[in-house]
Amino acid sequence: MRGELIIGNWKLNGNLEFNELFMMNLNRGLKGWTNDNRKIVICPPAIYLHQCNSLLTDAHILLGGQDLSTEVSGAYTGEISGQMLKDFGCRYVLVGHSERRLHHFESNQVVAQKTLAAIQAGLTPVVCIGETQAQQSEGQTVEVLKEQLSDIFQVLSHEDCLKIVIAYEPIWAIGTGITATPEQVQSTHAKIREEISILHPTLSMQVKILYGGSVRVSNARELISLADVDGLLVGGTSLVVEDFLQICQIS
Ligand code: PEP
Repeated sequence: MRGELIIGNWKLNGNLEFNELFMMNLNRGLKGWTNDNRKIVICPPAIYLHQCNSLLTDAHILLGGQDLSTEVSGAYTGEISGQMLKDFGCRYVLVGHSERRLHHFESNQVVAQKTLAAIQAGLTPVVCIGETQAQQSEGQTVEVLKEQLSDIFQVLSHEDCLKIVIAYEPIWAIGTGITATPEQVQSTHAKIREEISILHPTLSMQVKILYGGSVRVSNARELISLADVDGLLVGGTSLVVEDFLQICQIS
């Protein structure tokens, strides 16, 4: 059993009042719900981690960062280390989100270093990979994903490969309202697993692979039921607590 993860990525959203109400409603909505196979992770902006951590009362909910530094400490103004995220209750951290790759020019090599830094800090990195619309139209999806994965697997030991979660997020589906079809998702996830099995034959069935890209209440059930989908990375919809709760509790 690989277990499932539903991750809410708040991006640059939230404020003290919103967060308090959201966490209160999330705790309340999950009261009495049991599913030992599924964990829920909230990734607020780093500055609100302390607040959100102090408001958590449900054991299913865990915290994650949206990014971390490749470095542990030193003269890196504006950066946050993995250990700092851990100090504020994080168990997970997103790495290589397409918005980081685009707006902060994070290369595959930087994403690989961040993945390693997360593991070294004792966090589970959720490594985001995905192709652009143009790459998809050109039939380059698998090639692009392979390249993104190979840089990561190059820096990780066999043992560390088991500590990562992969999130397949086609860039053309993020924030666009266009979701990849279940057939596209299943076949791409199966290819990702195949790729891992070439590099690490014994690990491929153990690594969690999440899907992200315009997940909604209306499509979440079908997506999470796919054989090679082990959970969902939810952006916009994770800010609407009623919708996020419904997604978390899909049976
Ligand atoms: C994301 O930010 O990872 C994401 C998938 O966003 P959205 O759900 O809004 O497409």
